[in-house]
Amino acid sequence: MKQPITGYHQDAENDWVAELLCGHFQHVRHNPPFMNRAWVTTHLGRCKMIGHQLNCKKCDSGEPRDSRE
Ligand SMILES: [Zn+2]
Repeated sequence: MKQPITGYHQDAENDWVAELLCGHFQHVRHNPPFMNRAWVTTHLGRCKMIGHQLNCKKCDSGEPRDSRE
């Protein structure tokens, strides 16, 4: 299910995690050449991707909302 990005945080390993409207979190790693997401490395890039829709597999499998605790 496509869900828009509403915000971000970083996990314990400083990887960026997108927070989606549905309440799920999804890693948005920049790990070339496999995952080329240079936008996530800059504040401006992340701002521009607010509202961009990601495919949320957690919604498809009915997982409960993620929490930052
Ligand atoms: Zn979801």
